[in-house]
Amino acid sequence: MALKENLNHFLEELKGTQANLVAVSKTKPVEMLTELYETGWRAFGENKVQEMQEKYEAMPKDIQWHLIGTLQTNKIKYIVPFVYLIHSVDRLKVLKEINKQAAKIDRVIDCLLQIHIAEEETKSGFDYSEAKALLQDNDLLQSLPNVRIKGLMGMATYTEDMDKVRKEFKGLKAFWERMKLETSASNIDLTELSMGMSGDYQIAVEEGSTLIRVGSAIFGQRDYADS
Ligand SMILES: *Cc1c(COP(=O)(O)O)cnc(C)c1O
Repeated sequence: MALKENLNHFLEELKGTQANLVAVSKTKPVEMLTELYETGWRAFGENKVQEMQEKYEAMPKDIQWHLIGTLQTNKIKYIVPFVYLIHSVDRLKVLKEINKQAAKIDRVIDCLLQIHIAEEETKSGFDYSEAKALLQDNDLLQSLPNVRIKGLMGMATYTEDMDKVRKEFKGLKAFWERMKLETSASNIDLTELSMGMSGDYQIAVEEGSTLIRVGSAIFGQRDYADS
């Protein structure tokens, strides 16, 4: 019951904005996902391949599975058959491996480039300059026809300083807008801007997020710290 209310709270809040929601269910049991599923909810986010795969197998097949965590290339093959959107493409090697595995089963996988916008070194992703070089490399992108770059993802610095968070989101939004104008590869379609989590989604939505990834504010605190 509480889960449904938490979800509805978000849906109310997002009404009239450009943002949609991914319910981040990492570490939470299938029973909790099922509770949301039964209210009609379909968009779930997981950060680990094995956990997402197990939940995929246990749950109905019309769920949209969003992978939001760092990928090891040797595990990509396990999610490529069913993943809906990969938010966390943080290096070229990952994009190439997604393309390779997707080609084998004749799928085109929607991906977001994760951009490093935070101060912390621990958060992965492309720098702006690296992302720009990749997005403008039409020859390279043409060689990866089984991926489609649907947008960008970023995680702000973990801080109380909301001005800093806002600045980081603003920077990512501006880069996204610029890249929409300055890219032309046929497998780029920059419609999504994935930014905002439980602690900073309001700022992210104000700054133009199209997809917020919310875990603990819907499902409650996780038992163990897990980025
Ligand atoms: C865990 C996680 C989230 C959700 O975090 P909450 O603070 O629980 O909302 C969002 N994005 C990524 C990449 C995550 O790993």
